[in-house]
Amino acid sequence: MGNVKLENVEKRYSDVVAVDDMNLDIKDGEFVTLVGPSGCGKSTTLETISGLTMPTDGTISIAGHEVTNLPPKDRGIAMVFQNIALFPHMDVYDNISFGLRLRKYDDAEIDRRVEHAAEVVQLEGMLDRMPDEMSGGQRQRVAIARAIVREPSVFLMDEPLANLDAKLRVHMRTELQRLHKELDTTIIYVTHDQAEAMTMSDRIAVINDGELQQCAPPLECYNRPANRFVAGFIGSPSMNFFEGTVEAGTLKTGVFDIDVSTVSETVSDGDRLTFGVRPEDVYLAETADDITHATAPVRMQTDVLEPMGDEIFVYLTPEGDSVEGMEADTQLLMSVDPDTTLSQDEYVDVVIDRTRAHLFEVGSGDAIIHGLDGEESEWFRNQQEEH
Ligand code: ADP
Repeated sequence: MGNVKLENVEKRYSDVVAVDDMNLDIKDGEFVTLVGPSGCGKSTTLETISGLTMPTDGTISIAGHEVTNLPPKDRGIAMVFQNIALFPHMDVYDNISFGLRLRKYDDAEIDRRVEHAAEVVQLEGMLDRMPDEMSGGQRQRVAIARAIVREPSVFLMDEPLANLDAKLRVHMRTELQRLHKELDTTIIYVTHDQAEAMTMSDRIAVINDGELQQCAPPLECYNRPANRFVAGFIGSPSMNFFEGTVEAGTLKTGVFDIDVSTVSETVSDGDRLTFGVRPEDVYLAETADDITHATAPVRMQTDVLEPMGDEIFVYLTPEGDSVEGMEADTQLLMSVDPDTTLSQDEYVDVVIDRTRAHLFEVGSGDAIIHGLDGEESEWFRNQQEEH
């Protein structure tokens, strides 16, 4: 049983609150990723679970037992870090088995565990290699094998792929998913890379300023972000945001006037709201025939175009504003088909799919609603049910 529970965990360093009242309930066998910007408290949270750091407050349980004050070796965990610290003068077999030999396991048991771990990370046939004869990815697999031989109930991984090149990182993501399936063990994984979090995890825990923002399956965080922070952090490129005030049932953002009379139970005149929409939910009016709940078209001017191969990102500024004088956050980013013929400084009419738009409270940043019409909210609800 590798379930992990954090209750009201706090870690303070003099006046810095690295982890603030963290509550997490991770089920046995789950792959949970702690994600957030640098300095948000991900590593400190992981260290409190490993026992490398003692929390200032709160309790931590692993496999149903409270471990808050236990040393790392008595917690049934194994760790893999960003820096792969292999012994350079030992071959792969000795590197993997080092901890077991220290603990005086008998030779047959060591053999069994090393062979199994080498098979899981696909390093069979390389056990007599020296670390300097291996690629970065292979060395990272040795580090993972060294964790596997301990047969822990929980794996803790802190940015284990951060030092690998981009291509290998993507490959190792699939490897880790396979590993998780094969070992059927709880994995708690730290990364600042939201794409890594999205692709591998059963649930992602989004952290900002030491506080947990949302802990949910990746697509739920994407489609139903709990607040503006999660909406902006998950998804690349980021969601577009426009702030405004509701007047006579219309949210006036300066760029778009959004009819919010459809959600009058939750939104009132005078409310200060942030309107959020992802680049893929913004359309050229001429291609939006299938969008049944589109906003009124707004004339905008194209600025930078970024062809990505499978789509083109188009930065748009409202008509009449000079590009030089624009605030970056009043630009609208739109994703269009790769065969769309557009050039810089062209005038286009754009619409937004209201079924995919979000409203957030300006002060707290909390999400108010996902989808601006009855049917639209239903689309988001269905997404949630599917996951
Ligand atoms: P992340 O892993 O998300 O980058 P960390 O958990 O490393 O963030 O750090 C969270 C906050 O705690 C940061 O402000 C960092 O400076 C602070 N912090 C971490 N470890 C220590 C320490 N040993 N002493 C003082 N401050 C620390």
